Amino acid sequence: MTAAPRARTRDTGTPLRQIRVGAVTITPVVQLHYRVHPLRFFPDLDIPTIDEDAWYWRPPYREDGFLVIDMGGFLIRTPTRTVLVDAGVGNGKKRPNPLFTDRDDDWFATLRRAGVTPEEIDTVVFSHLHVDHVGFATRLDGSAWVPAFPNARHLTTAAELAYWTSQAARDLARLGDYVTDSVLPLREAGVLDVVEPDLGICDEVRLVPAAGHTPGNVCVEVSSEGQRAVFAGDMVHHALQLAFPDHSTDYCVDARGASEARQALLREIADRDVLLFPAHFPNSAPGRVVTDPAGGYRYEMVEGELL
Ligand SMILES: [Zn+2]
Repeated sequence: MTAAPRARTRDTGTPLRQIRVGAVTITPVVQLHYRVHPLRFFPDLDIPTIDEDAWYWRPPYREDGFLVIDMGGFLIRTPTRTVLVDAGVGNGKKRPNPLFTDRDDDWFATLRRAGVTPEEIDTVVFSHLHVDHVGFATRLDGSAWVPAFPNARHLTTAAELAYWTSQAARDLARLGDYVTDSVLPLREAGVLDVVEPDLGICDEVRLVPAAGHTPGNVCVEVSSEGQRAVFAGDMVHHALQLAFPDHSTDYCVDARGASEARQALLREIADRDVLLFPAHFPNSAPGRVVTDPAGGYRYEMVEGELL
């Protein structure tokens, strides 16, 4: 028997789900079922001390000893706007990570199954400019990377763009020079907007500053008809950070700042009727955060409606 692959494309037969937040509908558009060794994300984790039966250490959050870190984006449809939050790893791009390089995933077909063409996306929000959040924003046209959503404005913050275009950040060779093929072409095409981290996009959707994981990291908040959802990007990367909210990942630029931002968010939404959409939970499933009497928080996944 061969080992299960560490990264596989979302099976095109997987049903899509839609979650309603008032007048807004949300569809997770997953690219990859990705699995990584816990020490790659949490180098200080004392694995032998973790309870093997703990909820966050079992499927769907952990499989065969690997953390499940699914990847993709979220489609948000309001009465007036069609917004994509984050854009996966992308296809056909050269990356140091062999599981990210030269991918050929049917992600645009999944987007179409969700009912949207690339031309219909009017706004792409990057929670931050990490390699796994910007990939599908560009596509290869001949030998040039061009915007893949031709009618969209692409939103990032000044702190985020300044950091990831600095030489210091681009020298971080482990992620590859993805800024050149996935971010700079947007700026060259005049479709990248540097916005305030608390920008209101429309009546129902706004940005919320959340620096820490990266210098200009933002959350996206949806409010409609008294209901509320928060897209937390990588503030909560894996479920074990609900049980241990102070644990930041090795990919957090400011570990302490990320920890403080995470704990503030979790305190604010715990035990309330607020849906959390973390960027990397299994199948990008949203859920509610509830206080765990044993310490930390738990996650109550919300399945949504089948599309
Ligand atoms: Zn990420």
